[in-house]
Amino acid sequence: MRIASLTIAIIALAGCGRDVETPPAHPIADMVIQNGNIVTVEDAAPRAEAVAITGDRITAVGSRAEILPYIGDNTEVIDLGGMTAIPGFIEGHGHYTSFGGSLLILDFRYAKSFAEIVAMVEAAVAETEPGEWIIGRGWHQDKWEVKEDVLVEGLPLHDSLSAVTPDNPAMLIHTSGHGVFVNQKAMTLVELGDDTEPPEGGEIVRDENGRATGMMRESAQDVFRQAFSGHQGRRPAGVAEEEMRRMVTLAGEESLRHGITSFQDLGTSFAEVDLIRKMADEGKLPVRLWMAFEEQAADMEDRLADYRMIGYGNHFLTVRAIGEKVLDGALGTHGGWLLEPYADLPRSSGLNVVPIEEIEASARLAIEHDYQLAIQGIGDRAYRELLDIYAAEFAKYPEKTDLRWRIEHAQVIHPDDIDRTVALGVIPAVQGIFACSDGPWVVDRLGPERTKERGYIFNTLAEAGLVPTNGTDPPVDEIDPIGSFYCSVTRILPDGTRFQPQETYSRERAIYSYTMGNAIAAFEEDIKGSLTPGKLADITVLSQDLLTVPDDEIMNTEIVMTIVGGKVRYRNGEIIQ
Ligand SMILES: [Zn+2]
Repeated sequence: MRIASLTIAIIALAGCGRDVETPPAHPIADMVIQNGNIVTVEDAAPRAEAVAITGDRITAVGSRAEILPYIGDNTEVIDLGGMTAIPGFIEGHGHYTSFGGSLLILDFRYAKSFAEIVAMVEAAVAETEPGEWIIGRGWHQDKWEVKEDVLVEGLPLHDSLSAVTPDNPAMLIHTSGHGVFVNQKAMTLVELGDDTEPPEGGEIVRDENGRATGMMRESAQDVFRQAFSGHQGRRPAGVAEEEMRRMVTLAGEESLRHGITSFQDLGTSFAEVDLIRKMADEGKLPVRLWMAFEEQAADMEDRLADYRMIGYGNHFLTVRAIGEKVLDGALGTHGGWLLEPYADLPRSSGLNVVPIEEIEASARLAIEHDYQLAIQGIGDRAYRELLDIYAAEFAKYPEKTDLRWRIEHAQVIHPDDIDRTVALGVIPAVQGIFACSDGPWVVDRLGPERTKERGYIFNTLAEAGLVPTNGTDPPVDEIDPIGSFYCSVTRILPDGTRFQPQETYSRERAIYSYTMGNAIAAFEEDIKGSLTPGKLADITVLSQDLLTVPDDEIMNTEIVMTIVGGKVRYRNGEIIQ
């Protein structure tokens, strides 16, 4: 029998000669990206020229000649013309819906005068129903190049603003968050008049005639914020859902514009996940999400098991973490919890914000339900407390070994805690950009010695064997992987000096941190983080090679194209549905 069938096979081959139709050893690709400088983030073959994609997966990576046979009649071929393709950027720490929300409201950060702000409000009024609030943020009077004629304590009067907003209350939030500027309609709404006393800890700024100018400082803004959130809360459920959907879409599209294909969201709620899961079912999530619950431990107990999902909706939604409760505050406001007092505020070592017991309760839940834990620890005391809490919980379950619990921000770390972090398998989830946005004042807070030893020691952590990570914490900082990459590899501050220059990442490590490193921090290295056959086809195309361009040209790098799951979702300035 064996001889017979072998004979038939030989005859068949001979009969067909060279025209024999043997099936290809590989599938014809849906898409081939070629003629590029492909940075794979794969040790074995770090560079390639072409990538073949079938469905939402990478099927082959190699030279142009190697990938050529994957091109069939229906293959979409993208010619990169020598541009650089990398694995899609993964934002390692952000706040997805509040980022989306920040895109819904007016952005005054770049306004050069109060008149410009009023003009932006006037344009928004044209698209807003009467009675709805107009909200904006980010203004700062010191950025205004043109000043108003009448100023009270450096601030304008509300009249020009009120003139364009007769039917809409308006609240314009100062960039510091410590005050708001409101219009007449808002003041009428909360019944604030010429004789209204300011609340304790607040200030209603008035002109020489005792008339409120519109500026409300500190607690004087509370009544307006409450009126706004009360109004929002009274809207029908459908309106609120529609708004949340817009936030999800806006945040995703802004991510795509910046080459981000996955976004790790620190701090969501059960209600938010319900809606986002619905959008995943509808195929309406623009980028892939990894989400961490920020709920009270008591409220999570009975629900965590039902909500754990990994790779839901074609790998667009993963919920497997609890975060980001904040163990401490920020360094800028002397809130970061330090082992020793602040150099510039010796009476204080910072603040413990969320009680240790609440973090411990979350830790218990996380380990019981197989969730990661990702708690904010900015100062070295907070960092150490978290290691203690994590270690105590791990010790109860010696059989659980690969847990990848994270400490978010990890800006100040005592050298004694580095080896412990490695031993526990804990991941410090750091943001490269913060070294440059905080760099100008960190030395004041910590003093030079402590800064050198413990401040933003991101490369020291990586050298010790910890997973390098990256991100910009949007909307706290701009969503901007290029900016964070630039800071990660240069540590150049706005004034041209360098902050902790010995802590720069190599170019390769910086790319790795934003791709593979962040993927590992979410248990996703088997599907993301490198351009490898079998992984999701999430790819970002850059105008130039981040591994080789000179330092001072890095910031000119443009995001040319963003591909998610084999679909081009952003190209040359346009979002593609
Ligand atoms: Zn954050």
